[in-house]
Amino acid sequence: MKTLKIAIQKSGRLNEKSVELLKNCGLNFENYKSSLISPVSNFPLEILFLRDDDIPEYVQDGIADLGIVGENVIQETEVEVSYLQRLGFGRCSLKIAVPNTENYKDISELNGKSIATTYPVILGKFLKAKGITSEIRTISGSVEISPGLGLSDAICDLVSTGGTLKSNGLKPFANVMSSEAVLIGSKGSENDDLIKELIQRIQSVLRAKETKYVVLNAPKDSLAAITALLPGVKSPSVVPLAEEGWVAVHTVIPERDFWDRISQLKQAGAQGIVVMPIEKIIL
Ligand code: ATP
Ligand code: ZN
Repeated sequence: MKTLKIAIQKSGRLNEKSVELLKNCGLNFENYKSSLISPVSNFPLEILFLRDDDIPEYVQDGIADLGIVGENVIQETEVEVSYLQRLGFGRCSLKIAVPNTENYKDISELNGKSIATTYPVILGKFLKAKGITSEIRTISGSVEISPGLGLSDAICDLVSTGGTLKSNGLKPFANVMSSEAVLIGSKGSENDDLIKELIQRIQSVLRAKETKYVVLNAPKDSLAAITALLPGVKSPSVVPLAEEGWVAVHTVIPERDFWDRISQLKQAGAQGIVVMPIEKIIL
């Protein structure tokens, strides 16, 4: 039987969440910081630990069948790979930022200015699409200090909270792209049965993360009002309680409208609401 290879970041912002996702898929492997490759004992898979910049090309060239990497890195490397699944972590934006003291009103004011970045490809395409000609200064790191050093008028860098910009006297000016970690595969890999199984496992973990298991008690009379608030996986399970006229309702609800629903449920007569995390949802 063939063994698949998946490339994930060796260390850095995506490492921990990538390892966690694969472990939550029931994959059993050692996460030695020192090793470059780690076999999975209960699935025909090996995990390659790499620098994130190398992952798209490894996947394009088929050295790894799969990879977990930020969309920003994929687009910068301009590889031909298949996007298999968005993963919901590693969210950030690539933004153009300018010194706080500047008062640019329109993006066209970047014409003729210099912009330092580690993302020359993405930035170049963005500026071209807007019809702007700036001088792109490609540097390999610490982009945020370059305006302060007089190396550039602006920067284009990844931002999540904006704290780094602020502490360097910069403010966001234009959004170039939004990014999150994605699962990519070599072209055509989406047709492989083992890969399909792995994607299904990943999707069941992601689905479970977005939802909660809720158990609540309610008087029978308010059951209709309560079930109307609960769009369950199918319909909620209703179990009679020892106390006459009362039932327990079990259901699964999306995390995003969780708090809204809880207060509405209480208003509708629900009591003793218990909310539990779910490990996997297999449809
Ligand atoms: P490597 O050593 O693997 O090359 P790196 O220093 O290039 O690591 P990290 O800083 O660990 O990369 O970031 C990895 C990815 O995390 C980024 O490419 C991006 O997709 C995502 N990310 C999320 N938030 C941020 C952020 N605030 N700054 C930078 N990257 C972020
Ligand atoms: Zn990198």
